[in-house]
Amino acid sequence: MSSSFYVFPVQRKGAVRGQKAARYREREDMSMISEKMKPLVNNNSAIRAMFEEGKRLAAIYGAENVYDFSLGNPNVPAPKAVNEAICRIVNEEPSVMVHGYMSNAGFEDVRETIAQSLNRRFGTKFHQGNILMTVGAASGLNVILKTILNPQDQVVTFAPYFVEYGNYVRNYDGILEVVPADTETFQPDLEEFSRRITDRTKAVIINTPNNPTGVIYSETVLTRLGEILTEKEKEFGTQIVLISDEPYRELAYDGAEVPYVTKFYHNTVICYSYSKSLSLPGERIGYLVIPDELTDSREVFNAAVIANRVMGAVNAPSLMQRVVMRCVDETADIEAYDRNRNLLYRGLREAGFECVKPQGAFYMFVKSPEPDEKKFCEACKKEHILVVPGSSFACPGYVRISYCVSFDQIRRSLPAFKRVAEGYGLKGLEY
Ligand code: PLP
Repeated sequence: MSSSFYVFPVQRKGAVRGQKAARYREREDMSMISEKMKPLVNNNSAIRAMFEEGKRLAAIYGAENVYDFSLGNPNVPAPKAVNEAICRIVNEEPSVMVHGYMSNAGFEDVRETIAQSLNRRFGTKFHQGNILMTVGAASGLNVILKTILNPQDQVVTFAPYFVEYGNYVRNYDGILEVVPADTETFQPDLEEFSRRITDRTKAVIINTPNNPTGVIYSETVLTRLGEILTEKEKEFGTQIVLISDEPYRELAYDGAEVPYVTKFYHNTVICYSYSKSLSLPGERIGYLVIPDELTDSREVFNAAVIANRVMGAVNAPSLMQRVVMRCVDETADIEAYDRNRNLLYRGLREAGFECVKPQGAFYMFVKSPEPDEKKFCEACKKEHILVVPGSSFACPGYVRISYCVSFDQIRRSLPAFKRVAEGYGLKGLEY
């Protein structure tokens, strides 16, 4: 036997191992985490980080001396009708049906009840075949994006925007195109919008009432938005889907109307959630409206049902579907948010801060007194106030204050806001 017989396989094995190791090193490390996940892990939400900081400060100074305005978690309890509905469903409806699988689109009676409620409120003509029950708005957005996007398709949105849009669009290898904010009004800048639409634009996401500004898009703006999209579809010979993300639809103050977006453009999909309207964010329930007017409406609906299934949700939570059917015209106590809004707005203006008064949702988007709003956040933190930098919403120079907190927290925080303002030499407004 020649010695090479023994040597050769050993050398060969070593060479293969070396190549494998080099391939791993090329991928930076030998992590179990996929390349697509790594940036998500590295840029984990600033909002969550702030929330953790709140818990740390509360442990040191006591919860009553920390003013945490970082998270959009409703502090108003779900309406009584929700608890009553849960009890009645569990006691009165057949268990196998209540807790069982159903059509991946959701229970037919639930979808029909929602369609009829929308028709009563907005003069629409929906039927159960337009309603697809989802695991909240987050899942609804993912379902519709998975249904319509091809890799490299462009999705346009307006700054400031809910930061997860970028992640959702990248889930399907789309590209998010952001129209910069009009910081005078925080209504969409439609001239710039029109310039950004190309033959690769497949969708546009709007959010009204808006997180983080609280602005409601006016009827004039939505009319023009619809016209631009119709013109662009003709110009490029394409279909562009307008996705209206509406978790804050019911949170509107001073009698402000939130126009129903399907009226302004044929290719509209509504993404609704009960997280805020019924204070049920942990229960994960919402729906998509895919109207008959949408091009290839039936095919899109059927594909979206399959998207819902294959992304792993299978169907929206069944008990919660039955609950929202019984609570279809209920809302949580919106008055409480309105009282918070008025107290906070007045307090901040008196301290000298600038802000467009929100008409809806439960956020205020306040101008930072220095260009780098992260430094302003640090100055706030010294007074135990936690707010979120506007750069988390692609709009630096501003901070978001969530006022879904107790009235008392706002009252106690105002002297602290005043001290921050004085540190910047701001002059308060007299009311
Ligand atoms: N869209 C916006 C603008 C939001 O602010 C949120 C949550 O805060 C969502 C979507 C997700 O809502 P849901 O809890 O229904 O998934």
